[in-house]
Amino acid sequence: MKPGKFTYHAPENLHAANQLLAELGDDAKIIAGGQSLIPVMNLRLAQPDHLIDINGISELAGIHQENGLFTLGCLTRHADVETSPLLMDKFPLLPAAAKRIGHLAIRNRGTIGGSLCNADPAAEWPLIAILLDAHLSIQSSGGERHTPAKEFIQSVYTVDLGADEILTTVAFPPLARGEGWAVNQICRRTGDFALVSVAVTLKLDRQGHIERLRLCLGSMDVTPFRLIDVEQAARGKIPDKAWIHEMAGIAFDAGSPESDMHASAQYRREMAAHLTSEVLTEALGRCRAGT
Ligand SMILES: Cc1cc2nc3c(=O)[nH]c(=O)nc-3n(C[C@H](O)[C@H](O)[C@H](O)COP(=O)(O)OP(=O)(O)OC[C@H]3O[C@@H](n4cnc5c(N)ncnc54)[C@H](O)[C@@H]3O)c2cc1C
Repeated sequence: MKPGKFTYHAPENLHAANQLLAELGDDAKIIAGGQSLIPVMNLRLAQPDHLIDINGISELAGIHQENGLFTLGCLTRHADVETSPLLMDKFPLLPAAAKRIGHLAIRNRGTIGGSLCNADPAAEWPLIAILLDAHLSIQSSGGERHTPAKEFIQSVYTVDLGADEILTTVAFPPLARGEGWAVNQICRRTGDFALVSVAVTLKLDRQGHIERLRLCLGSMDVTPFRLIDVEQAARGKIPDKAWIHEMAGIAFDAGSPESDMHASAQYRREMAAHLTSEVLTEALGRCRAGT
């Protein structure tokens, strides 16, 4: 399959890219890694007249620790996150999530910005960005704005992004000292999109009671979602086996998973329960080990 005809643009800076988007409007699409856009263009599900390639804009790449946040440029490849010495040392949750994305060839090209703008409910970055309350910076020719990931990602393949806007950076607040974490998923084959994914962070106080829980499920609804009420109710509880069992039951009932050619809704519910139990146990181990 081949895409329809389009005009290729390679702006050298962000300002020029924004100007092009403002001029061309809905006829233009940004291309980053092309790992989601090119397949849909080849299938003629998208037929933009203009492609604006942002790969030459160096200011959009890079991983930085600044102002107490870990800030990733939108052009940061999944493989850059997976192998970043800074993140492996200080924020290993992010490399652990990145290495679950597709295959190496996809991770070498695909970008965090492209994944968030694509908003596939089974994708890793929407799950992790919502779990960690990531903040996104968005640039248009009219200026810059900032938005939390949970407001940016609105539905299946639907984000809060105007035709002339470019997602520029994703900022992750770090975990607290001693805060445990885990991320896991069920796939039919290694490298496939997740049938269900679950990510968690867990912080205990000195007495071993839960101080902060964040629990996010993917592929269980139109977007990944946190169990906010459950997280709040967990405060002060002892994270024993009975509590983990209770949390697995809550995950089973959460969201509105669909049955499709890959898995039934019932199977997704059972896997959400199973994964929740696994990630909570793993995160608890990290809390107790102090890592
Ligand atoms: C075989 C295969 C398996 C995969 N498996 C997984 C998986 O297991 N998990 C997973 O999470 N992903 C998976 N992916 C998707 C992959 O992670 C993509 O890289 C990602 O979804 C899109 O990133 P990209 O940089 O390639 O974006 P592109 O394909 O270039 O763009 C995607 C969309 O985002 C828009 N866009 C891109 N960047 C910006 C920006 N900065 N500002 C505004 N709009 C922008 C584009 O216009 C387009 O609409 C898979 C892809 C393939 C082909």
